[in-house]
Amino acid sequence: MVGRLEGKNAIVTGAAGGIGLETTILMLREGASVLMTDINETTLTSALEKVNKIIPSTSRTGKVETKAVDVSQESQIEAAIAHLDSWGGLDVIFNNAGIMHPKDGDAEECPEDIWDRTMNINVKGVWFGSKHAVRAFRRHGKKRASVINTASMVALVGAATPQLAYTASKGAVLAMTRELAIVHAREGFRFNSLCPAPLNTPLLQDWLGDDKEKRFRREVHFPSGRFGEAIEQAHAVIFLASDESSFVNATDFVVDGGLTKAYVTPE
Ligand code: NAD
Repeated sequence: MVGRLEGKNAIVTGAAGGIGLETTILMLREGASVLMTDINETTLTSALEKVNKIIPSTSRTGKVETKAVDVSQESQIEAAIAHLDSWGGLDVIFNNAGIMHPKDGDAEECPEDIWDRTMNINVKGVWFGSKHAVRAFRRHGKKRASVINTASMVALVGAATPQLAYTASKGAVLAMTRELAIVHAREGFRFNSLCPAPLNTPLLQDWLGDDKEKRFRREVHFPSGRFGEAIEQAHAVIFLASDESSFVNATDFVVDGGLTKAYVTPE
């Protein structure tokens, strides 16, 4: 049986985290070779161990490697993408690394250094990944390629629980991705944004901790009555990465259990 990503070379940023790790596993299952990248080398090593346990080399056609990359450093993302030149060149990049800093808040609360740090990782990281991906696609004469950039549903609807830098950064991801999609459409390079709702991953759950009130304030808005799971995002990424989505371009691909379309949710 041929996988949906058979023969494709992919990079995942933030691959040691919730969405990144689940996506890596599915990509390998679908026949891709994957370079897992993350700023945190320790968690990256244990993420690779998990991957090898779940999908050992004997049961996959592609390879998997890791590389420490801080996406806010252009030279590091450039080097990661160049690493795939010897694999036959990049086909898919999932620019997924992002932070939501605990000191972020409303306009008065958010410190300037946290604003800058959030923008450097969440926005510049996506820009650098997209820019060097385009160069690699051209270098290898790719006629089909896919870039998936992780935004968030907070880029689409306002929240009375503000994290202004984070929200602004994700709005920038949506706008940037849309424009890149139009610019490169005739080269066959597709760009789509993934817009997850709040999830059961460390990014949000570590921040919520045991605070039941904070948790309920968010959970009540889900028609499903629950947060999303990383794997539910990963399935969407596989679709966007594969040629099945060949006519899907410039979308804000919302995976939110209906949250952004709900007014009053079921009791
Ligand atoms: P996560 O915290 O589990 O994973 C994020 C990963 O990014 C971590 O492994 C972290 O080490 C890595 N990272 C942080 N800074 C980096 C940098 N400078 N360079 C490279 N890697 C870096 O979070 P997740 O939930 O898997 O989030 C993935 C993406 O999804 C993020 O962009 C996040 O903003 C977005 N998102 C998450 C949620 C949610 O509720 N979890 C909702 C909407 C959007």
